[in-house]
Amino acid sequence: MRVTDYLAQAKGDTLISFEVLPPLKGGSIEAIFNTLDPLMEFKPPFIDVTYHREEYIYKKNSTGYYEKTAIRKRPGTVGICAAIMHRYGVDAVPHLICGGFTREDTENALIDLNFLNVNNVLALRGDARKFDGKFIPEPEGNQYAIDLVKQIADMNNGIYLDSDINQGKATNICIGVAGYPEKHFEAPNYEMDLEVLKAKIDAGADYIVTQMFFDNKHYFKFVENCRELGINVPIIPGLKPLTKTYQLSAIPRIFHIDLPSELARAIAKAKTEESRTQIGMEWCVEQSKELKAAGVPSLHYYTMGDAPVIRKIAEQVF
Ligand code: FAD
Repeated sequence: MRVTDYLAQAKGDTLISFEVLPPLKGGSIEAIFNTLDPLMEFKPPFIDVTYHREEYIYKKNSTGYYEKTAIRKRPGTVGICAAIMHRYGVDAVPHLICGGFTREDTENALIDLNFLNVNNVLALRGDARKFDGKFIPEPEGNQYAIDLVKQIADMNNGIYLDSDINQGKATNICIGVAGYPEKHFEAPNYEMDLEVLKAKIDAGADYIVTQMFFDNKHYFKFVENCRELGINVPIIPGLKPLTKTYQLSAIPRIFHIDLPSELARAIAKAKTEESRTQIGMEWCVEQSKELKAAGVPSLHYYTMGDAPVIRKIAEQVF
């Protein structure tokens, strides 16, 4: 089923959903099941699986020199989606990115997903590879998420890249896109970032999932500004508990968001791992309760290795 159908069916009740990362290469599908098994009692109708493109690393070769090598550390998104759907009977939402894909690769990936009965995709541009400095699309690839959205929307209308295909099977893929309550870090300003988001919706995207935030006022303002601009699709808030000292600098650095002083100071002052976890958990519970009371479509938790904490949060909110 399409994510937007689940949201419509809920008739204003807040759903719960999760995002998982493929295990590091060499790991097993059990890692995914160990994360999700304890969370399934909350009945998420859909689960997102992230996509990770190749990164360059420098590896010492047999002559002692370092060689630039491309590796994908977390492959397996499509297989994991199929495994999740088979094991739990819920829908899986693979993330699909522009980076590393030609448009032909993208079309073939969408055909695979369609054959697997995967009817949802989160369409993203992807980040720059570390050594590239800026995002570089494949020569025949999509440059921005909007281009990927348009390609998927075309396939939903039976339009394939090969113009000789004149009666192509129309796919029925529900398209999610990313939104940034605190602005995407490359956007010249917040307003222009919202205009880009509006263009993604106008191009055929059906719903938005937000970057994580730790102060709900960012989400409420973002939703208000989206509505003013005529963005009327569901806007699902993404949440993550902050439970470790290193995250005080890692989260702003990686996700380009601010941490509220009250939370950051409390985590910095906490003496033990238990107290840090408790503080981060309580903060996320309060955020979740307020968002749920405001009638958000779903609370979407980034599990990122923190499944036991997410479970305790969900127990207090649902
Ligand atoms: P876009 O919407 O293309 O925007 C990228 C930047 O370009 C923005 O600054 C935007 O303002 C600007 N822009 C867009 N279109 C235009 C245009 N036509 N002209 C000029 N400027 C434009 N990354 C992964 O690699 N794998 C994942 O699984 C993944 N999952 C994510 C899930 C969520 C919920 C979120 C919020 C992010 C996720 N990301 C993931 C990270 C995402 O790929 C990065 O944030 C990336 O830098 C931007 O992706 P986007 O889809 O928002 O890009």
